[in-house]
Amino acid sequence: MGQAGKRLAGAMLLCVLSLLATMAMATPRELESGWEYRWGDSPFLPDGTPAWTLPSNDDTWRSIGFPSNPPNREGRDHAWFRVTLPAGEWVDPVLYVYSIDLIAEAYLDGKRIYRHGTFDADGEGRFAGWPWHMIDLPEDTAGRWLYFRVYSDYTDIGLWGEIKLMERADLFGYILRHSAAALIVGPLCLLLALLAGSFAVIQTERRSFAAIALFGLASGSMILAESQASQLLLDAPLLWDYLAAGGYFTLPIALGLLLEHWFADTRPRLIRCIWQGHLGYLVAALGSAGLGWIDLATTFPVFDVLLIISLVVLLSAITPQLRRLDGRQHAILATFAVFGALLLADMAVAHGLLPWGRVPVSAGALAFTLAVAMISLLDYARTQRELKSLNQRLETEVAARTHQLQCLVERLETYSYTDPLTGLHNRRYFDELLHHEAHQAQRLGAPLALAMIDIDHFKQVNDRHGHEAGDQVLAGVAATLSEHFHDADVVCRLGGEEFVVLLPGADADAAQERLEALMARLAGRVYWHGGRMLGPVTISCGIASFPTHATNPMALARLADRALYVAKEGGRARVTVYA
Ligand code: GH3
Ligand code: MG
Ligand code: MG
Repeated sequence: MGQAGKRLAGAMLLCVLSLLATMAMATPRELESGWEYRWGDSPFLPDGTPAWTLPSNDDTWRSIGFPSNPPNREGRDHAWFRVTLPAGEWVDPVLYVYSIDLIAEAYLDGKRIYRHGTFDADGEGRFAGWPWHMIDLPEDTAGRWLYFRVYSDYTDIGLWGEIKLMERADLFGYILRHSAAALIVGPLCLLLALLAGSFAVIQTERRSFAAIALFGLASGSMILAESQASQLLLDAPLLWDYLAAGGYFTLPIALGLLLEHWFADTRPRLIRCIWQGHLGYLVAALGSAGLGWIDLATTFPVFDVLLIISLVVLLSAITPQLRRLDGRQHAILATFAVFGALLLADMAVAHGLLPWGRVPVSAGALAFTLAVAMISLLDYARTQRELKSLNQRLETEVAARTHQLQCLVERLETYSYTDPLTGLHNRRYFDELLHHEAHQAQRLGAPLALAMIDIDHFKQVNDRHGHEAGDQVLAGVAATLSEHFHDADVVCRLGGEEFVVLLPGADADAAQERLEALMARLAGRVYWHGGRMLGPVTISCGIASFPTHATNPMALARLADRALYVAKEGGRARVTVYA
């Protein structure tokens, strides 16, 4: 077990013992009266006895209510305090002192019984931290003078907070009881820091969460370091004070970061100046104290002044903008205001502006932590909900897009097989269809006829009536073709004024019959363009059929073409079967 573990175990054992022995032991006594002080430092006899502890020096002591900050300091750094110890049935008495500014020695009967910090030959010494003190006393102290030799170049000089005569066993319980809140809230703040830190990594509102994480880290370490129980864990008061200072000095930096982000479009410069100033102070103060240039203690009052200025400036800068913040931000600011007010109260107590009392700073931190944790959870839930609906939206959007794309593709496919002027199938379609039908016919041994159609003297229609009129006639002829051929028969426009009809199952004779019927139909048909009547037009047609004219149906187009040529040569307006 390490040193810290032993201390803690010892403290716990003493706690239990104290519970058992409470009845037998004397109750704690506050040393509230009978104190006396004397400015300056005592000379020492060769055997180390301070001359001021001798009875012959009794006359120059003055009485004081509490052994701290005697009147008329006038720049003095040395003071002595003394008190007569009361009578009581003590088993293992100790004197508990909440804090001392800054270093001190305690004397009983001319003997030094306690020391905090180190006095040099001039009776001066360096800041040694602000721990609580447990001064061992002999059993029979009643009526004896207890002396304190104090040195302080700090704003305060003397003992501070509480001074109690109590059983050693009681003291540890007392310390733990008064640290309970800090021991709960401190780790909670650190947990919040972890939570907010991970949110800062995964969330969109990185800056806010990073600032909140920093705030949680700062307040958590400050509260734990300032808790009296920390001393039971590790007897290194200066180290704890450095940690407390680091946390305390970081608070306005985190707050500034948060506000700078929230008010990014209005007061970012001013807010940035403030938090950067505090960052500078943090580095400079802890740096120079660490290097031994100054005492850590002196960095606190300066910071307190800076903090008050910063809070006032920040408050006046953001108050007119408060309406722009949302409910969550208001909640965070409100709990911070509570925290800030408690910090200020604590500060006022530390500087003697308010009577001594324990300010529940950790309650403020707890309110802040709970607010932020709640908001983080709500935010997390909202983000999850948003992600879900975003996913759904994306899915429906993708589905809609896919549908649109399919329509587009279908339209493109339609276009690519259709002739836009006549609405008939085009040459591409015909090529594929012929392939298919030829294959079918060959496989089934079924007849297949093919008719090539060409409008006669079509050029003249264009020449006489214009190209648009020609289009009108082309569309009209195509419509007649569509009307005339149905069922398995398929009509395609090959290009220009040329058409082809594929007649599956038809032999040459049947095809000839159908084509001649078509010609009769066209002979009675006229077309209108711009109020003028056009036509009728005649067509020439060549027919070839499988298996009569070709062993391979793919040859039908070429053969029908030849028959068409013959029809034209023969005087047009006729149907010729390939021979
Ligand atoms: P023939 O009886 O020998 O077939 O004589 P023709 O005038 O019909 O044949 P020719 O090949 O000399 O002329 C065909 C004309 O068809 C020429 C061209 O300008 C016209 N043409 C081709 N495609 C279109 C079209 O889409 N619209 C219009 N208006 N005319 C077209
Ligand atoms: Mg032609
Ligand atoms: Mg023609």
